Amino acid sequence: MKLVIATNNANKVREIRDKFAALPDLEILTPADFADPPEVIEDGATFRDNAMKKARALADHTGLASLADDSGLVVDALGGRPGVFSARYGGEGADDAARNRMILDEMRGVPEGRRSARFVCAIAIALPGGESLVAEGTCEGVITGAMRGNGGFGYDPIFYLPELGRTMAELTLGEKNRVSHRARALDSALEILRGLPRR
Ligand code: IMP
Repeated sequence: MKLVIATNNANKVREIRDKFAALPDLEILTPADFADPPEVIEDGATFRDNAMKKARALADHTGLASLADDSGLVVDALGGRPGVFSARYGGEGADDAARNRMILDEMRGVPEGRRSARFVCAIAIALPGGESLVAEGTCEGVITGAMRGNGGFGYDPIFYLPELGRTMAELTLGEKNRVSHRARALDSALEILRGLPRR
């Protein structure tokens, strides 16, 4: 079956492809495979809303089952920020490193026991007929005092996993894909896809 992934983020596509290798009959396409893919404004109040909006727009455009991920970092001591604003935190000009520095600055002075955070991922699968299915995953961790590691992307270098004793950026792709928020949401999405009728 064909599935269009509603992202051009190469890192996300890599994580999704790695996970979905378990479904050999799945042909993964991206918006770049279609003319004039829809531009979606991510103005939903939740990760779930944004994922559903992106998946639906692409399914309507392509006539194919489409999958969208909306994800981000929720820091308790920052009242849940950056949350749904994770990709835009720090404004237009900011890159991943600048966003990480900003969070580290905002967290300066916050004691060890109050640095809890989680990555959250919502994955929506929109079907051409109008039905949508959603899977969610979270991954609990702690905000570090400094960036560590070169793997992954986004906020991975400042997200420490106490059970593994490493930041998310210090994990291999295989390791990240066993424990991350996206991995957990993708495991549920995999089950949803397995249950869909093949055409
Ligand atoms: P989205 O493309 O709107 O879902 O943006 C999600 C943003 O959240 C990304 O740009 C990253 O900053 C952050 N994010 C999402 N997933 C991850 C992850 O696995 N590691 C690190 N940062 C992530």
